[in-house]
Amino acid sequence: MFDQLDSMAGYQAAKAVCEKTVRACVSLTGVGLHTGASVSLTIHPAAARSGILFRRADLLTSGSAEKQSVELEKITIAVHPQAVIRTSLGTSLANEHGVFVNTVEHLLSAFAGMGIDNALVEVHGPEVPIMDGSAEPFIKAIEAVGLRELSAPRQALRILKKIAVKDGDRWIYLTPNAAATDSQCHLDVLVDFEDPSIGRQQAVFDFSPSHFRQSIAQARTFCHASDVALMHERGLALGGSMDNAIVVDKGQVLNEGGLRFDGEFVMHKALDLIGDLYLLGRPLIGQVTAYKPGHDLNTRLVKALVAQPDAWVLEDLREIPAEAMQAEA
Ligand SMILES: [Zn+2]
Repeated sequence: MFDQLDSMAGYQAAKAVCEKTVRACVSLTGVGLHTGASVSLTIHPAAARSGILFRRADLLTSGSAEKQSVELEKITIAVHPQAVIRTSLGTSLANEHGVFVNTVEHLLSAFAGMGIDNALVEVHGPEVPIMDGSAEPFIKAIEAVGLRELSAPRQALRILKKIAVKDGDRWIYLTPNAAATDSQCHLDVLVDFEDPSIGRQQAVFDFSPSHFRQSIAQARTFCHASDVALMHERGLALGGSMDNAIVVDKGQVLNEGGLRFDGEFVMHKALDLIGDLYLLGRPLIGQVTAYKPGHDLNTRLVKALVAQPDAWVLEDLREIPAEAMQAEA
């Protein structure tokens, strides 16, 4: 397969991009945002075209090998827009057996940012650990083992028609790129919060792994101090703390050390959006324009997209020429 692709590359201006997985198992432990309990996960390499799968390893009971293989299917959740069951406090997925996993978005964003197409994520609890509230801890752990290229061309989903979702004054549009030869994903994300410490922030960028790593991966989630007390009273977000979120209150960032960089708020909204878009399991080619996005709108958008098959087409990805990458950096 590689030989075939290499010989094809000789005739093509740009080389085909192959699917990727992790080179070896990656394990992490952290606090669960919902429960406040410690939870560990292991990311396993997976074969080409298998996609991203979550497996609730904590629900596996001991038994015969035959019984276990039946159980494995029941506790495995394939990442897909239709698997979304809830979008409060993050994105939650479930399979047809009602087995769920919470807070998948920052890990999916890390996979999107690194170009990982296939992985089996074993979670030993009901949610992916929140870590520091960003995607960086996942990326660092994966970088420590590296990635493996697989012998299947990587496919992207090219937008052909406008798809829009709205909720009051909030909206997201997906539109085709102006030029048919343009194989990138362009994002324009705008947030507007009353609290003056956040205010109005906009991020306009072309998606690339290097830009994601440098400017998006470290952006932490955020909330208002008044929300924290309210959520804890209701038994929600028990694991939420200033170790894994920026907390703002009346124009002030309460965390010691303040922000990691200017625009951290809008960049986290971009991180969430990129993670939720990766429920599609492949990169997008098109323009994403978002005003006040959130997990509800993000996931409605990917559901609307898969429900309209004439609005997109799958195509094999080609490497972006080096000169274009340099111009962007
Ligand atoms: Zn988030």
